[in-house]
Amino acid sequence: MTIAHVTVVGLGLIGSSIARAVKARMPSVVVTGHDASPDVRQQARDLRLCDTIADDAAAAVAGADLVILAVPVGRMADAANAIAPGLKADAIISDVGSSKSSVADALAKALPDHVVIPAHPVAGTENSGPAAGFATLFEGRWCIVTPGVEAPEDAVAALTGFWEALGAKVDLMDAAHHDMVLAVTSHLPHLIAYTIVGTASELEEVTESEVIKYSAGGFRDFTRIAASDPVMWRDVFLANRDAVLATLQRFNEDLTVLQQAIRRGDADKLEDWFTRTRAIRRSIIAEGQDDPAPDFGRKH
Ligand code: NAP
Repeated sequence: MTIAHVTVVGLGLIGSSIARAVKARMPSVVVTGHDASPDVRQQARDLRLCDTIADDAAAAVAGADLVILAVPVGRMADAANAIAPGLKADAIISDVGSSKSSVADALAKALPDHVVIPAHPVAGTENSGPAAGFATLFEGRWCIVTPGVEAPEDAVAALTGFWEALGAKVDLMDAAHHDMVLAVTSHLPHLIAYTIVGTASELEEVTESEVIKYSAGGFRDFTRIAASDPVMWRDVFLANRDAVLATLQRFNEDLTVLQQAIRRGDADKLEDWFTRTRAIRRSIIAEGQDDPAPDFGRKH
């Protein structure tokens, strides 16, 4: 299967990065874009993100071999319904949503006669909107593709090849397993960051200006994650509720273990725990998934 024409629906951080990466790495592929927001469509035109920006979702997908829905998880069903009348019979429909089981169900329901192969590029920043995207976002990052059992092999291979052409590494996974893995590696860390930043800003004994002034002690690293898009993350927690709650339960138990160790003065317990976590950080750097420079490579 050849992908000669891609349509990206939703031109925010991820959608605009896909459009930019296709233009940079696959110049012969035609890119059409659409966004529900007229303002975003105008920004996309000004930024020359795509060959064409369509005002109408169904018109945007006409002739497309691959359609990627890059809208918040809670808007996937709306976006799928809106493109349905314009799709080619053999088009592949995919998405980039941060949770997969609920999105897979919504897309299958909205597009029962089409080839739907959900996916999730595990790459992003705390910024949103079309100006925030960049062509190298997916380079060296993983894209998890979650085909259902009925997905044709050649379509899965075409989608895999597309993400590899954007510089990503691809893993195939069951949607439910994806949701559990991402609950641990992404959703719980975001929930913790949202909690810490919210709690610190509401303390009575310590003023907000003190929290901001002394944030280099660790707090500011949480604020990057806690600055992530509120709509996107609202939808992620609602969509991946079960896996997040299961992971949160485990986290609460572990937090209690550390709380006890501190209360009991159990130095060995604390040191063992922190030694193990330091090794995990080193493994992430060894895998090329973060900057080895001290302080996340920040320039001071
Ligand atoms: P974003 O920057 O907020 O962009 C989303 C865009 O989609 C907005 O311009 C939005 O317009 C538009 N939109 C909403 N509903 C639409 C619809 N029905 N039809 C067409 N356009 C619609 O969000 P993002 O960060 O790119 O996230 C997009 C998707 O990528 C989400 O599913 C998210 O879970 C996933 N993802 C995000 C990251 C990340 O780090 N940000 C990483 C991996 C995957 P309005 O603003 O007017 O609603």
